[in-house]
Amino acid sequence: MAFLPKHSSRVVPGVFLLAGLGLFMGAWMMKPAPPTSPNVVLFFMDDMGYGDLSVTGALAYTTPNLDKMAAEGTRFTNFLSAQAVCSASRAALLTGCYPNRLGISGALGPNSPVGLNPDEETLADLLKEKGYATGIFGKWHLGDKKEFLPLQQGFDDYYGVPYSHDMWPLHPNQAQAHYPPLRWIDGNEPGPEIRNLDDAGQITRTITDRAISFIRKHRKKPFFLYVPHPLPHVPLAASGQFKGRSARGIFGDVLTELDWSVGQVLAEIKKQGLDENTLVLFISDNGPWLNYGDHAGSTGGFREGKGTSFEGGQRVPFLVRWPGMVPAGRVSNKLLTALDILPTVAKLCGARLPKKRIDGVDWTALLKGDNTVTPREKFYYYYRKNSLEAVRQGEWKLVFAHPGRTYEGFLPGKDGKPGPSTESHQFPMALYDLRRDPGERYDVQEQHPDVVAELEKVAEEARADLGDDIQKKTGANVREAGHADQ
Ligand code: MG
Repeated sequence: MAFLPKHSSRVVPGVFLLAGLGLFMGAWMMKPAPPTSPNVVLFFMDDMGYGDLSVTGALAYTTPNLDKMAAEGTRFTNFLSAQAVCSASRAALLTGCYPNRLGISGALGPNSPVGLNPDEETLADLLKEKGYATGIFGKWHLGDKKEFLPLQQGFDDYYGVPYSHDMWPLHPNQAQAHYPPLRWIDGNEPGPEIRNLDDAGQITRTITDRAISFIRKHRKKPFFLYVPHPLPHVPLAASGQFKGRSARGIFGDVLTELDWSVGQVLAEIKKQGLDENTLVLFISDNGPWLNYGDHAGSTGGFREGKGTSFEGGQRVPFLVRWPGMVPAGRVSNKLLTALDILPTVAKLCGARLPKKRIDGVDWTALLKGDNTVTPREKFYYYYRKNSLEAVRQGEWKLVFAHPGRTYEGFLPGKDGKPGPSTESHQFPMALYDLRRDPGERYDVQEQHPDVVAELEKVAEEARADLGDDIQKKTGANVREAGHADQ
């Protein structure tokens, strides 16, 4: 302060202090408060494998929009679907519960007498209660009877297919060609029939158009937009703009169109000025249906695929984007599951949790950038209704002896016709260290009896809670699925 005139020695620091305070206050006032009711867009792909994005190693076609989304947000490498099959996986996503807690298993067929019990509270129910507009455009697959459809489960708007679009009279397996005609559902009413592959080629585009209209219509209030794309589940079909365009045949065409669809929705969010107030999540329901060969996706090297509890069945891509809230360009290896979507999204949106017990954990701290937290330590795997096939804790996975599906040892199918697989392969008990053995090839239980004992305890907890058909145990905390009146 030697250069300052004596009389100003007290005044000037005061000026600096005030100026500094002013700058601080200005910056504080300019920084937007975190949105209390962010929009939520949830993409849910069907049978897309872990390795089906360029950013996870896809070859012969590219997914530039998804790669950009990953670069602008966070990509998770240890994200698991709740079960490796359509209906069970969707039940868990929307309720935060293990699907067997709700009595939902497998893939529900047309006219299923069973569906997601409307007494369960879905993410749409919780967000609707908070004043959100709620829309689903795509595949429902939690029961096609009216009482189970989306409008009875928390959604305001629905346009989509009621179940997998291979459940139609053109199914390649003769034994399954008894399916009734496949129709779009508009709200609660049947819409136009999807008669052939040309009609099926319009599915992705139609859903994209509906999703964009929904954003435009509700741009002034918070919205929850659920986009469960029916593809790349077979039968594969793309619209004229994409058919025959990729070097990877129809599978590449379909992936290119799905990537375009995500890009269109993200562009509309930006166009409406909602970019920084919109949480976008991108997930797949289960791994690829490997016996469809060139019409199936890639697990990225993980073992087995759809319908199995090996990593190829349940490890799926997971991207999250929310500019200013979720770190950009981050890759996280933390274990998370589809069960965890509901509690986390509910928290971010200021919604309450369901009244009944759920299984998901809150990972908002991790989402927002605290990489020191480990929200989920353990996970029970299930497959085939209620058979405990494996449990996981950290990097360890204990697989129990069980009969199950394998694709290994069979020539895969081609051009839309499935190859064989078996449902009764006997898998032995094994302990895998996923840190050094993500392909689940090396059984190390002999070297780690302490880990086996620890994981056995987790399994006992699971069996007491949810039961286990393999050991003929009934769980104490399972609930009834919805049963149709007729
Ligand atoms: Mg699926």
